[in-house]
This record gives sequence, structure tokens and C-alpha cells, in this order.
Amino acid sequence: MSTKWVYLYEDVDEVEKQVGGDWGKVKAILGGKGANLAEMARVGLPVPPGFTVSTEACNAYLAAGEKFPPGMWEQELAALKAIEEKTGKKFGDPNNPLLVSCRSGAKFSMPGMMDTVLNIGLNDETAAGLAKLTGNERFVYDAYRRLIQMFGSVVLGIPDEPFEEALDEYKKRKGVTSDTDLTAEDWKALVKTFKQIVRKHAGFDFPQDPLEQLRLATEAVFKSWNGKRAVDYRNAAKIPHDLGTAVNIVTMVFGNMGWDSGTGVAFTRDPATGEKVLYGDYLLNAQGEDVVAGIRNTKKITELEKDLPEAYKQFLDICKKLESHYREMQDVEFTIERGKLWMLQTRDGKRTARAAIKIAVDMANEGLITRAEAIQRVKASDVDTLLHPQFDPKAKKQATAEGKLLAKGVNASPGAAVGMVAFDADLAEEWGKAGKAVVMVRPFTKPDDVHGMLAAKGILTSEGGATSHAAVVARQFGKPCVVGASDIAIDLEKRQMSAHGVLVKEGEWVSIDGATGEAFVGKIPTVEPRFEEEKDLHTLLSWADEIAKLQVWANADYPKDALRARAFGAKGIGLCRTEHMFFEQERLPIVQRMILAKSEAERQQALDELLPFQRSDFEGIFKAMDGLPVIIRLIDPPLHEFMPNERQILEQVIEKRVKNETEGLKELEELLAAIESMHESNPMMGLRGIRLSIVMPGIVKMQVRAIFEAACNMAKQGVVVKPEVMIPLTGHVNEMKYIQPQLEEIAKQVMQEKGVSVEYKFGTMIEIPRAAITADEIASVAQFFSFGTNDLTQMTFGYSRDDAEARFLLDYVEKGILPTNPFQTIDREGVGVLMKMAVEKGRATRPDLEVGICGEHGGDPDSIEFCHLIKQNYVSCSPFRVPVARLAAAHAALKHDSK
Ligand code: PEP
Ligand code: MG
Repeated sequence: MSTKWVYLYEDVDEVEKQVGGDWGKVKAILGGKGANLAEMARVGLPVPPGFTVSTEACNAYLAAGEKFPPGMWEQELAALKAIEEKTGKKFGDPNNPLLVSCRSGAKFSMPGMMDTVLNIGLNDETAAGLAKLTGNERFVYDAYRRLIQMFGSVVLGIPDEPFEEALDEYKKRKGVTSDTDLTAEDWKALVKTFKQIVRKHAGFDFPQDPLEQLRLATEAVFKSWNGKRAVDYRNAAKIPHDLGTAVNIVTMVFGNMGWDSGTGVAFTRDPATGEKVLYGDYLLNAQGEDVVAGIRNTKKITELEKDLPEAYKQFLDICKKLESHYREMQDVEFTIERGKLWMLQTRDGKRTARAAIKIAVDMANEGLITRAEAIQRVKASDVDTLLHPQFDPKAKKQATAEGKLLAKGVNASPGAAVGMVAFDADLAEEWGKAGKAVVMVRPFTKPDDVHGMLAAKGILTSEGGATSHAAVVARQFGKPCVVGASDIAIDLEKRQMSAHGVLVKEGEWVSIDGATGEAFVGKIPTVEPRFEEEKDLHTLLSWADEIAKLQVWANADYPKDALRARAFGAKGIGLCRTEHMFFEQERLPIVQRMILAKSEAERQQALDELLPFQRSDFEGIFKAMDGLPVIIRLIDPPLHEFMPNERQILEQVIEKRVKNETEGLKELEELLAAIESMHESNPMMGLRGIRLSIVMPGIVKMQVRAIFEAACNMAKQGVVVKPEVMIPLTGHVNEMKYIQPQLEEIAKQVMQEKGVSVEYKFGTMIEIPRAAITADEIASVAQFFSFGTNDLTQMTFGYSRDDAEARFLLDYVEKGILPTNPFQTIDREGVGVLMKMAVEKGRATRPDLEVGICGEHGGDPDSIEFCHLIKQNYVSCSPFRVPVARLAAAHAALKHDSK
């Protein structure tokens, strides 16, 4: 049997059978439009007779160097015969001519990206015949000139301008402004002019043979699959390029046959808000493209009730039917020809993030879909979009068009920020406190820039990547952030930056979009979202929590972040980085004193001063997380990070020496020597984490005491505390064996002193490959694991997390050497294998081992799916990512566990 390329609507049963009832596969063959036209016909809705040339025919045509595959054209002719029989009209017959449209339609809708030709079958003879038959010359010659123009532009590649200019000139000469003012004679004259335009540009006459028109139009639609617009759209929408488009040949129905005719487009719910109201436009006495083109002012769909009540009632009814049939919001096209309603298209409607959530929740509440389906229909990115201030999309487009896009970097933390540029943290803080909107701009940020970051609306850096300090801190605080915008040259001395010839001085306005990584000059207006008011999102996420296997915890260092995390639905704190507390203004000098102490007694004195600070921090967090687990990580970074800048001290020493100033010189020299002595070639692999605890146990002992004093104090007040003490950067079980018992001893001692006993755990981070490989041994001591995937990625790849993105990593992704940035999405084949091994080995030793993740990947949906697959207990991410993670955790469970 020869290959079947062409399908009548009634053949849909056969196609469905062929692909085992998979509607996605039916769409792959017939295209979305073709499949849905056939489906509407099958359920008895009024669809004009037609047929579909398959996507497979398109692919065969393109593969063969633009030649129809054998048998296709014959099948198209046979299908044409079938619709001639159905309509009682004949293609090319002047006495009762059949006219058809030829419309593209791929598996996934690509609105307006490919081509369409309407009114095929009209020529001088059929036009005259149709005019006689309908008694409506005006309509016929209007349709004829539309065919010549569309055929001219789509099939023959003639630009629209000469046609439009001719029409405008004609109207001007006649002294009218609207197309509806033109008469039959006018359109006849324009048909002549349009034909001349075709001859002039194409070098031959507009084809009078209807079959020739159909053949060329079919080819043109096939070719439009590879048009620039279509290719660009597919790239942006991540639609594969090898799907091909189907071609739908459908009997023409006319909305321009008088004032009892019309045409329109509508959504079954409001695509912007999701509200359950019919939303759309129509025009009386018009053809489809008039509605879209905006030449005439369209009317709101509800007004159709007054204009054509019968048709409106039927249309409402059909919309309801389509929604319950497809169980999804539909985007429909219709035409009314002399009072009779025809459906020309239906497809799932595109919508905003807000509408996506509302529609999913409403439809589940209406019983149209299940709660699980509602969850699956909302994308993690929809939640993200809804929860961050966003730029008004129109304004952003305009800014781009006006050349205000300064640079693009890594989209580190989503959201829109507008502010005046401040090139250092102190100024950012000063301006922020004075109520000014600030965007802090730095080559990169350090822990002692945090105050500026907190005061700023957003952060922009020219260096660093997705796990750089700026990125991590920004996400944690929900600050929009763009990092590694390497086109920007920052001159800190002149207090200015420039990119692509645009100069921005301190105090001037910039706008940054952390969701896209774009930085603009000037102010772009934003719109603010509020989580507590997002009732539908709350409902959806409560359903998600019931389905998810993974819990979502949060990374939070301060009580106010813990409270926020809880409000966002976090079920615990997965990482409290204690060292951030050391950087606060009144504490840093004590920390420095502790580091520089010359004797144990001096060091202990500084530690004793720090203890009350830490204790009160922890009390706040325990209170905020009443009843929920709180993982507190003991000090991790190398000590030099707490010290003043070496270069600045050196400069001060030199200055004093040059000026012969002795006062304070000795102290400065000692400080410089101390800082120099801390110098390491590879500090990230140096004296930090558990190594620091072993070499200098005083700090962690103080921290553990502070944790348990706080826990006991809170427990006495009736707060349910569940402290979990986390030791970072373990690489060998003996490290844990050495330090953990000493710390646990302190815990027990404090509980005894306080006369309270609290539930607690001691555990470690898995962030060094060796720890993952020997997880069975480590689990003999550690009661829980938390993957520090920032370090684990750094150590597994051997990529410096602070430098790689700016130097080569983004380039690697662009060149396809790496599929994604491994600091944003877990590298399942490398880092992931280590993680899986660690879970399995760890639980082999300790079956109830609690396993989580607290690296930046904990808020990334793809990484969350992986954490689900390796059976972790929870993921922990910055508070602002908690809602996204809750949805992603449910997505993972639904994808992998339900069937
Ligand atoms: C990690 O390495 O993933 C982690 C959470 O720790 P930090 O980012 O503080 O090194
Ligand atoms: Mg780490």
C-alpha cells in the first residue's frame, strides 16, 4: 500500500488507532489545527468540510529538495473530490465554485509564524459565477483581491506594500477612509490593479487555474516551516525543528457576506487574569485577518449577543462544550456566514503565569480536572514569575528597541529592580537608608558587602557566576540579581561603568531583570506581586504538598528570613550559615580579635563575648521555626575572609613608613603579618570547614554551646526545638570521629546545666567527592547528610565556583560542551552519581539517615526532580524559591511515582 499523506476529518479514528490512542501522536501527524478540526467534526460541531496533508508529507517534501512525495498530490485531489461531494460545490466550477483555504498547522501552535492562503479557487470565471450565485458582487471581488494579495505575498514572495499602497491610493482618490466604503466596482478595479502588481513583480500572470493555485499554496505552506520567523520562534519556544507542518485545506466560509456575517477569535477564559469569562473580539462583515490586523476597531465578544443573538447563544454553548471536551481553556476562531456559525479552529490557549494558576485551580474545583492535573499544568517558572516584581513587558520591549539594553549576564536571582547606581556597599546602604532606590554595581561582591546588598533593590556584577557570593546572597534575600555581565567595564575610581559605548555614572538610573539577566539604562516601570494575596497559588501549593515526597526546607540565616521561609511554606531550615552573623558591624571586631589572639585565654575571652550574640540569633530562629527542624552549620569559610583587606593595610603601613609616622605602625605591621600568615594558594581547598574546627576547636565549641543554650532556653518557654548541628566539608570519617564526640559532649553538658533535654542530631555536609564515596563510613558517625552541591560541583569538576562562569563556563554551555551550567542544575551523570552513591551507602549503614540538599541547586526544578529520584528527604533553598520548589517536588512525584 502506498504511504498515506492526506487525511479527511473522518480518518482521525484511523490515525488514532495507528498510534495507540495517543492524542499527542495524532497531533504530531495531523498538526494541532488539523487534529482539533477533525476532533470538532467528530463530536458534531459545525466545522466546514476539509482535509489535512500530514506533517510527514511536509518532511518528505523538504527532504526531497522541495518535491511532493509520490502519491501525495493524487491523494490531495481525491480528498478535494470528497469535500466537493460534501458541499455540493465544485472546485473551479463557475456555476457553483468551491473555494478553500490552505492553512499551516504544526504539532505545537506557532501563532502567526507560518503561512496561510485564503479564497483559493477564485479566478475571473468563478468570481463572475459566484457573484451571480450570491447576488453579492462586492463580497466576491473583495475576496478575489484578498486572494491575489495573499497569494502574491505568500506564494510569490511579493511584499505587501505595493498592494497596500494601491488600496490606500484608491481610497484617497475616492475620498473614503474605510474599506467598507468601497463598492463592488471599486473592488473590481482593485482586482485589476492587484493582478498588474503580480505581473510586474513575478514576471507572469496570477494563475487562473484553481488546481495550480492549490498546488503552489500547499508548497508555500510546507516551505514556511523553514521561514526565518518560524525558525526563530522554535528556537525561543524550544520546539524541535524536525516536526514539520501539516497543511489544512478547508472549505471557505465567509464572514464578509453582509451584516448577518462576521468573524472573530475568543478565549474561553480570560488569558490575562484566568477569570472564567469569555474573552475575545469580532467584526461583522469581515474576514479573519481584519480582526487580527486591527484595521477596523473590533467589538467585544459579549456584544455579539445583541448583533446576532442566535449565533452567539450557539457559540457560548460550543465554547462550553469545547472546554469540557478538552478539559482546558480554549482559544477559538469562528466565522458566521449569513447567520450560520462555523468553527475554524480550537487550541489550548496561551496564558500569563497568573492565569495559568487560576485556571488550573478553578478547573480542579469545578471537577473538570484532577488536583494532580492542576499541579502538572502550572510550570515552576509560572510561580517564579508571579512572585517577583516584573517589568512591564511593553516598556521593556520599548527600552530594548531604544538601545537601552546595556548588557546581558547570568540570570542569578529573578525579579525586576530599578535604582540609582551605587558602586560600593557603604554608599548603597547610605542611599538605601535615606529611602533611595539603589542598584549596587560591583565587579563582584564579598561577605562584607552584604549590608549594601540588603539595602539595594538589586545587584549587578560584571564577574562571577550562578553560585558566586552575589548570586547566593541575592537569592537568599529575594533580591533581583544579574552577575557576570562581562560586557560592562566598571571603573571604580571614576565611579562609572560603560558597555557598548553607553556610559553610566554613579547616581544614574538602571533597571535589571534577574529573570533574564538583562541590565538596562534608565527606569523601566514594574509591577509588584504579594505572596499572601495569591490565594490560588496557596491552594495549588497545598495540593502540591500532599503529593510531593520531598519536603521543602529553606536556607535562612536570620529570624526574619526564617519567618519568611515559614510563610512561604518551608517545613524546616536546611542551612543556617552562622558565619554571616559574624560579619555584623558590632561583631566583626570581636571575631578579628578572636582570630588574632596571641594566647588561648585571649581567644577564649573573645569567644565568650561572641557567644551571647550567637545565642540570641539562634533563639530567634528556633522561635520562628517552632516545631520544625533547624539545621545550623558550624563555621565554614577560611578565616582570612573575616580580616580587613590586605592591600589596604599594606598601603597604610607604607604610608606610615614613608611619612615616618610611628604611632599605630607596629599594630598595623602585626596585623599585616597575621593576614599574610593566613594566606593560602587555594583557600577553597584550604583551612576551612571541619578542618578549621579541628585546628581551632574553640570557635565551634562556642557555637555548639550557643546553639544548645538557645535551644534549652526556648524549650523552657514552650517552643518545640529540633536543632541539627551540621559540620561542613568532611572528607574522611576520622575527621568526624575526632570532632563530633567533643561537640556532642558540650550539647549534653548544656542540657544538663539547663535541666532540659531536647531532640537533636549531629550530621555533616557531603561536599567533597571522597565523602560521597565513603558515605557508608561517614554515616556511622553522622546522623544526617546535606549535599553542599556548590562545593560538590566545584570539587567534582575541578571548576572554581567563583571564577569558572566568567572565564569559560558560559562559553562551554553556549558551545554545547556542557548541556547546562552545572552550578545551576545538577550534573546528573557526574555529581549526581556521587550523590546517589552517598544516599545508598549512607542508608546501608544507617537506614533512617536523613538526607537533604542545601546547595543552590535545592531551588532548581530539574535538580529537585533528581533529588526526588535518589530518594532524599528534603531540598533546602532560599525562602523566595520555596514556593517554586514545593511545586517542583510535586511535579517530580507525579512524573515518576503515580503509575
Ligand atoms: C555548598 O557548598 O553547596 C553549600 C551550601 O555551602 P557554601 O555555599 O556555604 O559553601
Ligand atoms: Mg560549601
